[in-house]
Amino acid sequence: MPALTYHKLGPRPSGVRLRGLYVSAGLFGRQMQELARADYRTAFPGEWWNPPDSSARGVGLTFDDGFENVLRHGLEPMRAHGFHAIQYLVSGLLGKTNEWEQRQGETVERLMDADQVREWLAAGHRIGAHTRSHPWLTRIPLDTAREEIRSSKALLEDTFGVAIRDFCYPYGDWNPAVREAVREAGFETACTTAPGLNRPEGHPFQLRRLTARHTSLQWRTLGTWLRLLGRNG
Ligand SMILES: [Zn+2]
Repeated sequence: MPALTYHKLGPRPSGVRLRGLYVSAGLFGRQMQELARADYRTAFPGEWWNPPDSSARGVGLTFDDGFENVLRHGLEPMRAHGFHAIQYLVSGLLGKTNEWEQRQGETVERLMDADQVREWLAAGHRIGAHTRSHPWLTRIPLDTAREEIRSSKALLEDTFGVAIRDFCYPYGDWNPAVREAVREAGFETACTTAPGLNRPEGHPFQLRRLTARHTSLQWRTLGTWLRLLGRNG
């Protein structure tokens, strides 16, 4: 099953460094429409590698980092088609801004606060954990990495009263020790940034995703790509 990665939705402020992390509201709306026309239904990560119903075309929709602009521009287009997505939240920065990106000179963007996350959940969407402060997990001491992973799950569960089953490695940065720490913390899945489809023989803590961020990549092309991948393995 394919899963798509998004970060930020809506107008791109001037001076942004990583322009490709923005998808305009118009393009996102068209992508959702194309998925609906192609009879896709959305699925949460636990189903990606082991779909309950193989006859339906499934696709995962994921948003990394918990940006407020996703709430503003993403809810309505997904609601219109009955689609549901997962947001991977940086649990220590709820209601704050993209501090880890600003350290690299990136433009400030707001992250959802607790009430906005509740609005996201009330719309039928899901949340997962993306650590507490968005570090490169393989570049910090393993004990610190374990704490980032474990505490991000606990904080989200305490704050929102929902089970947090799904994890996403910041920057797609993992190694076997980090992966084991995610499993030990009680997660059931983890997302990487490796491209490709998810298959039953795949690893639930190495889920693959396809980036949907490039405005130059028209949905028709991506749709064709998904079908080819599905056919040819
Ligand atoms: Zn991230």
